[in-house]
Amino acid sequence: MRGLLLTLEGIEGSGKSTQAAALAESLAAGGVPVLLTREPGGVPLAETIRGLLLSPDSGPIQPLTELLLFEAARAEHVAEKIRPALESGKTVVCDRFTDATLAYQGGGRSVPDDLLQRLNSLSTGGLTPDRTYFIDVEVSLGFERADRRSGAAGKDRIERASAEFFEGVRRRYLELARREAERFLLLRGNDSIADVARLIQQDAWSLIRSRALPYDGRPNPRNPK
Ligand code: ADP
Repeated sequence: MRGLLLTLEGIEGSGKSTQAAALAESLAAGGVPVLLTREPGGVPLAETIRGLLLSPDSGPIQPLTELLLFEAARAEHVAEKIRPALESGKTVVCDRFTDATLAYQGGGRSVPDDLLQRLNSLSTGGLTPDRTYFIDVEVSLGFERADRRSGAAGKDRIERASAEFFEGVRRRYLELARREAERFLLLRGNDSIADVARLIQQDAWSLIRSRALPYDGRPNPRNPK
């Protein structure tokens, strides 16, 4: 039986990585076979591409070049890691996926949406997430948190982009969440970590139960009923 693909999206500092790890831990503790991974990256070649994309030493990159690097990393990640895991029945929790391309390269860099959709479809072989958790925060709050985490000097190439860029990214994420309201769950990222975690985990567990995916049925203390 195919596992579920659950993705987390949002601007920097929205809390994606924190929530992805907590979700994977909750599922694993409840006996769900789970793979936690991230984009860009997840497999060695894609992590190397991640290094190129995020290093401030790369300097400005043409929007098309940037897009193709993200999609190349994704093609490798999907073929080598995500698809085999799903086919073996694992639930995959992925920190960023195809919607990040639509939001960052579309909303942030103004690459036309139809090109982004075509390349997403090519790099994933048509794979789409079963559920996408979009954690929405104001750009100023995301910046504050990312600054606290990495310090201004420790920010990567994309985190150094302007507030205006991130406003465009956030707007596009909100449009996507409205456009595909069935797939997206919109979370308020200024709520506490525990509150956001409860909503995400409640939803993921109910999806798993409704699809009757394998898990060992043990009661999970971290699983909110
Ligand atoms: P992202 O992966 O979206 O960039 P992180 O999960 O790395 O964000 O979180 C960035 C920082 O903000 C971390 O220090 C994290 O502990 C903190 N953080 C995450 N979510 C919240 C929240 N809901 N409330 C307060 N701080 C948070």
